[in-house]
Amino acid sequence: MEQPTATLILKPGREKPVLNRHPWVFSGAIDRIDGEAQPGALVTIAGYGGETLATAYYNPKSQIQARILSWDPAEPIDHDFWRGRLQRAVDGRRSLGLGLPAGESRDSAATTAYRLVNAEADGLPGLVVDRYDDHLVMQCLTLGIDRRKGMLANRLVELLAPAGILERSDADVRGKEGLRPLVEMRHGQAPPPELVIRENGFAFPVDTWRGHKTGFYLDQRDNRALVGQPVYMAGKEVLNVFAYTGAFGVYAAAAGAAQVTTVDSSVPALETAERTMALNGFERPGDEYIAGDAFEVLRYYREEERQFDVVILDPPKFAYNQSQLDRATRGYKDLNWLALRLLRPGGTLITFSCSGLVSADLFQKVVFGAAVDAGRDVQILRHLGQAVDHPVLLSFPESAYLKGLLCRVW
Ligand code: SAH
Repeated sequence: MEQPTATLILKPGREKPVLNRHPWVFSGAIDRIDGEAQPGALVTIAGYGGETLATAYYNPKSQIQARILSWDPAEPIDHDFWRGRLQRAVDGRRSLGLGLPAGESRDSAATTAYRLVNAEADGLPGLVVDRYDDHLVMQCLTLGIDRRKGMLANRLVELLAPAGILERSDADVRGKEGLRPLVEMRHGQAPPPELVIRENGFAFPVDTWRGHKTGFYLDQRDNRALVGQPVYMAGKEVLNVFAYTGAFGVYAAAAGAAQVTTVDSSVPALETAERTMALNGFERPGDEYIAGDAFEVLRYYREEERQFDVVILDPPKFAYNQSQLDRATRGYKDLNWLALRLLRPGGTLITFSCSGLVSADLFQKVVFGAAVDAGRDVQILRHLGQAVDHPVLLSFPESAYLKGLLCRVW
C-alpha cells in the first residue's frame, strides 16, 4: 500500500477551501513541505498548526500542486480505495439507467455511450472514463493519474470486463502537468476506426481514436433529447451551427423538422453528419451541409436575408484562461447577435457555452447584451447544463462547465 511520503503545510488561514472539500491545493497556498515529496506520489495536507486535513497526490510542475483524494487523512489509499471510487461512479450511472447489466443485449439498450468517471466530480481528480458500447476510453489528465493508469485500467477490467480500453490522453491540459499527449491501447482489443453507438435509440458513428474529446460530445445528450421534441422542431427550419457530426440535427429530424442546415468548419465532421442522418433513416435532399467559419456563414445568411425557426449554437471553448475572457465574451456576444437576427418572430434560440470560466450568470448577461443590440425580445424557457452522467460536485463549482439557454425570440 502506498503511504504519503511528505506533508504539505498550508499557509496560515489557507485551510478553508480544504475544509470545504475543494479538491485543489494551489502552489500559492503552500507554506512548506516536510519530507521528500516525489512527483506523482501521495502527500498529506496539513494546516499551518500541523493538523492533518487530507491525502492528495502531488505534482510540483503544476500550479495545482496537490489534488485531494480523501478528506480523511487516516483512510488508506489502497486497492480498495480506487476500486471503491470507481464502483461508486459506475453505480451512480447505473442508478440513472446508464449501464448495461450483465447479460443484457446491447441491441436493446437505447444508450450505449456515456461518461462513467467525471474526474474531480467523481472523487477521481484527473481521470475521465467514457464508455462507448463495449469499449472504454480513458483520459489521464494529471501526473498523479498518469502514474497509476495501469492499476486503474486493471480495476476497470475487474469491474466492467470491457472489450478494450483505449487511452486518449491527447487533451491540451496535460501540458500544464508536464505531460506529453499520448494515444495508445491500455487493455484488450482496439476499438474499430468507427464504432456505432446508440444514444436515446439513435445510431451515431464514433471515431474514438481521432474524434473530438474521447470521440463524441456525450455532455450534450440530455440537451439533444430535450430540444429534440416536436414542440420545438415539428415543421421547423433548423440551423445547427458548430454541429460536429450533426447529432442535434438527427434529433431535430426525428422530431419533425422540415429542414436542417448543418454548419461546421470540419469537412470530415460534416461528412459523418450526413452519413449519420442517413444511418438514422433521414436521407433528405432538402437538408444542407455547409463547411465554413460559423461567423462568416451567419453573416452570409444575414446578407441573403435567410430566416430560420430554430438556431442552435454550440461553439467550442472560447476561454482557456482569465486573459482570454474578454475576447471570449465578445465572441459569444457576436455569435448570439448574428443568430438572433436570423430568427423569425417566435423562433427558438438554443445557445451554449462550454467555457468553464464563463459562468452561467455571465453567459446570460452576454446573451442579454446581444438581444438588446439585435432589438429582439428574448424569453428564457429553460436553463440547460451538462448531461446527468457529467455530475457537478457541489464543493467544486469548476465542474459545471457547460451552460445553455433555450429561448423564445420575438
Ligand atoms: N454540437 C456538437 C458539438 C460541437 S463541438 C454535438 O452535439 O456533437 C464544436 C464544433 O465547432 C466542432 O465540431 C468544431 O469543428 C466546430 N468549430 C470550431 N470552430 C468553428 C468555426 N469557427 N466555425 C464553424 N465551426 C467551428
